[in-house]
Amino acid sequence: MRTWSIPAGRIFGIEIRIHVSFAILLLFIGLTEQIAHNTVSPWRGTALLAIVFGSVVLHELGHALVGRQSGVPPRAIVLLPIGGVTIFDEAQPEVPANWKRDVRIAVAGPVVNFLIAGLSALFLHIAAPNDRLWADPYVTSANLAHSLVWANLWLGFFNLLPAFPMDGGRVLRAIFSRTMEPAAATRRAISIGRGFALVFLLAGWWNAWLAVVGFFLFVAAQMEDRSAVFRSVLETVRLEDIMLTDFATLSPADTLEDALEKAVHCLQDDFPVIRGADMVGVVSKQKILQTLRREGNGYVQAVMNRIFDVAQKSETLSSAFRKLSARNLSIIPVVENQQLIGIVTLQNLMHSMALLAETRKLRKAALES
Ligand SMILES: [Zn+2]
Repeated sequence: MRTWSIPAGRIFGIEIRIHVSFAILLLFIGLTEQIAHNTVSPWRGTALLAIVFGSVVLHELGHALVGRQSGVPPRAIVLLPIGGVTIFDEAQPEVPANWKRDVRIAVAGPVVNFLIAGLSALFLHIAAPNDRLWADPYVTSANLAHSLVWANLWLGFFNLLPAFPMDGGRVLRAIFSRTMEPAAATRRAISIGRGFALVFLLAGWWNAWLAVVGFFLFVAAQMEDRSAVFRSVLETVRLEDIMLTDFATLSPADTLEDALEKAVHCLQDDFPVIRGADMVGVVSKQKILQTLRREGNGYVQAVMNRIFDVAQKSETLSSAFRKLSARNLSIIPVVENQQLIGIVTLQNLMHSMALLAETRKLRKAALES
């Protein structure tokens, strides 16, 4: 998902990213406008795009702020032309399932759009009583005030479609999750969403806009499917399945030059520091290098991080992830009966997650075919 979107600043501390498919909308608007009027005023075209863009941002902020208020802090918003996706922070401690809260968060986006549409229609009615709001074309650069009303009405209604990951689909999932496992509820909602995408794509023969909508629905369902697979990997795989059991350790009495020498001979970036049978700290290759450059040679004891967390081998990846991000660490020692039996590093965690997600997808595809 990150690879297909570019960062665009922050609002209320929430990262905003723009999905590349926004460029496709830009092209499409340009083309249809060109056909309709022969000439496009670039200023009006840009203003129309800004209206759609701003409405999507406000829609997503609706989800994000209601989410934050109900104890599900958002991390980022990825903007798609049909409404965007709010990504909630998976590194945070897990929040207990609560279908009413999920419905509230899902409905907040469309509510924002209906509010904007209602207020701007009211304002328009007062400012220009003779204006015919119901006249075609509804969304056009030739009438920006009408576009503001109709684009928001359209965004609100479209997002209420029960096509996951549209908000209506999220409501559906929340309802499924009353009687189903969360992962199964998500899967069912995603497959209904794919069905909708297909219907829209087929309807493209009749109206090109519908095919565009189907395409975006498909992209969004695909993104959700990927993150659902990641989540299931995080929740079900245990540390003993991925921990590194063959690793180098340092002693607090090692000099930094010795430590660097050792680091050169292995691929590890982070090292547990062991005194006798006890683990007393962790240190990274980068930290060793930095200190050597800045202060010259010294002892590992002086630079190691004494604050660290340990994990049991039966803990899940998501629990290790939370421990790492809570203290901003890059290594977590795995212990059994107070003995160090392995390490999990951030690098190793990311790598195995990508591999596990891939093998699960392949297995799932093999089962379905
Ligand atoms: Zn939404």
